[in-house]
Amino acid sequence: PAEAAAVGLPKLAGLPIKARLMSNENPYGPSAKAQKAIAEAISSGWMYPRESIMTFKKMIARENGVSEAHVLLGAGSGELLMASGIHYTMKGGAATNIVGGDPTYMQLLRTALALGAEFKKTTLTKDFTYDFNGMAAAVNDKTSLVYLCNPNNPTGILEDASKMTAFCEDLSKKKPLFIDEAYMDYAADPKASSMTELVKKGHNVLIARTFSKIHGFAGLRIGYLIGQPDTLREINKFCTGGGSMSATSVKGAIASYMDTDFLTYSKAKCLESKEYLYKTLKDKGYDYLPSSANFVLFPIKTEGKGFVEKMAQKGVAIKSWEFAGQHWCRVSMGTLDEMKTFGEAFGTLA
Ligand code: PLP
Repeated sequence: PAEAAAVGLPKLAGLPIKARLMSNENPYGPSAKAQKAIAEAISSGWMYPRESIMTFKKMIARENGVSEAHVLLGAGSGELLMASGIHYTMKGGAATNIVGGDPTYMQLLRTALALGAEFKKTTLTKDFTYDFNGMAAAVNDKTSLVYLCNPNNPTGILEDASKMTAFCEDLSKKKPLFIDEAYMDYAADPKASSMTELVKKGHNVLIARTFSKIHGFAGLRIGYLIGQPDTLREINKFCTGGGSMSATSVKGAIASYMDTDFLTYSKAKCLESKEYLYKTLKDKGYDYLPSSANFVLFPIKTEGKGFVEKMAQKGVAIKSWEFAGQHWCRVSMGTLDEMKTFGEAFGTLA
């Protein structure tokens, strides 16, 4: 079977990109309030932002109903995914494995693979949800971690909350679970779908969240983990515990976290663009996976890499995948104008 790896990131250099729809960013961010806080923070940039980091950590803890010891901050969630990949691979020792769905987001797994761990892939079900039975069966003595991205990237599929909860409650008695919720803010009911409650109940579960998506902070680098304090202390041996966040970014993040109007606006604009894309695809006779994230994956009728290149030549940057015997294209939600640019370019190639 074809590797379910990303096969086509368009070459941006030299091509005039009119619609940047390949990295699941929020084109409306950072919010005006976050920008103001960032601008004001520049003059105090000579100081380590210790107080702001403490304030930010308190906010995250309060909002999630956990203690500050249950929160580990990072310069983007990627730093924390990589630190977790290192920690669990080292803990698992020789020939350890990490169980996950395929395809999924590979940052934690790539780190683990580089250190010698095996990725025990389980194929997704016909509905592109996780095969929970298959995952439980794939877990063995050498499994150091189970990784679940929810909503998953690149599918955008959100798991049923009660099935996911039951699976996590059960499996976390045997193995630690890492739940990457980078896109959870875009779900219809993030609180109901997030597995944060399991941390509060004492389960061996880690939740990763990022400001890179709905907060529009991809280039500003803010993320965090919610988990059991002992586990976070171990993971923190391989990262900076928030020390790598810049003063400007952390002060911006504090402002953004309180800016609920901006978050509501961003979510509504994302939905508007998604509806537009769904209609564009339907009109052209294309199917798509119903997405709970800020991107949509749909099956294409030609080879993916070439298609991505042709779209890039038309000024539209997207990504392609190949899995389940099919080429797929993933389109991030841009502004409505960017989606129209996508629609026009797609119309000439579809
Ligand atoms: N997790 C998922 C599922 C992602 O898609 C991404 C980035 O696209 C990340 C984590 C890492 O994001 P960041 O390091 O910007 O927080």
